[in-house]
Amino acid sequence: MSPDSNLLSEETISQAVAQALKEIQLAKNLEELKNVRLNHAGEKSPIALANREIGSLEGTAKADAGKRIGEARNKVKIALDDRTVELQNEREDSILIAEKVDVTQVLANANSSSLMVGARHPLTTIAEHISDVFIAMGYEVAEGPEAESEWFNFDSLNISEDHPSRSSSDTFYVESMDSGIVMRTQTSPVQMRAMLERKPPIYVIVPGKVFRTDELDATHTPVFHQVEGLAVDKNLTMADLKGTLDHLAQSMFGTGIETRFRPSYFPFTEPSAELDLKCFVCKGETKKRKDCKTCRSEGWIEWGGCGMVNPNVLETAGIDSSKYSGFAFGMGLERTLMFRYGITDMHDLVEADIRFTARFGLGL
Ligand SMILES: [Zn+2]
Repeated sequence: MSPDSNLLSEETISQAVAQALKEIQLAKNLEELKNVRLNHAGEKSPIALANREIGSLEGTAKADAGKRIGEARNKVKIALDDRTVELQNEREDSILIAEKVDVTQVLANANSSSLMVGARHPLTTIAEHISDVFIAMGYEVAEGPEAESEWFNFDSLNISEDHPSRSSSDTFYVESMDSGIVMRTQTSPVQMRAMLERKPPIYVIVPGKVFRTDELDATHTPVFHQVEGLAVDKNLTMADLKGTLDHLAQSMFGTGIETRFRPSYFPFTEPSAELDLKCFVCKGETKKRKDCKTCRSEGWIEWGGCGMVNPNVLETAGIDSSKYSGFAFGMGLERTLMFRYGITDMHDLVEADIRFTARFGLGL
């Protein structure tokens, strides 16, 4: 028997298979198994080398050797495949274990505040509520820039050049007083923008942020919110304004709550009125209830300002004041929230602490 034919002997093949199966089982991971595969099923493995010798045999010897090699290869292949599946499963299991999240642990560690559901700021909600009341009456929501030109904020609204509200002790000027740009002190410049962009009839509601040089204290904040309304149409009168504001009062504070006008002066309306709201707690019946904290037993709460749009303002917007008239009104949202909910400190509204806003939830 030649040395080469030894490679094909039953004993040599059995040993090669046994060694292969042993190493396959010992492979601890897919990388090790890859080397085992090379050594025992690759081109230079004992079985592959033996296979090359088959050609030198003849007859039944050749057939027997071929059968032995085929069986040997098959055993090694099955063992390799089985071990591959095992190691793949082990790898997946170890990844799952490594990436496992213990949800009960998270719950155990959480305190009540991290589980608290968020809330919308009541300023957002009340602005939307008021806008909705007006949208239902056919108004559209209008917006304008917060950094506004002096012309829109003052001149176009009939506010004279020497009006005290223009001073830098009241108004934030951007960069310098010569820049001509202010942080708007009111939402009223949006009235002018709305009139310039539209043709009558005009019905707009303007919620927005405004700025004045007040220090933050219990009742003041340098940044606050207003909502402003403007209507320009034929034959509008103070009666239309009163009816509109009574409707708003009832939508927000309930049946029977109406508004009251007191004569006043604003440059952009003529005539102008202070707007009072009948106290929604004591219903204005101060004689029966002397201890109303909401209205300080006055029966009425100061709410905002209003009036008929000054013809000068209409003309500035290019609207013929002999054909059209308009009314406008505005109120502060912080103030509205404070008397509506008995909030006594402006800091609560400005700081937006979740413990404060959570009381209001997602709506009012
Ligand atoms: Zn009252």
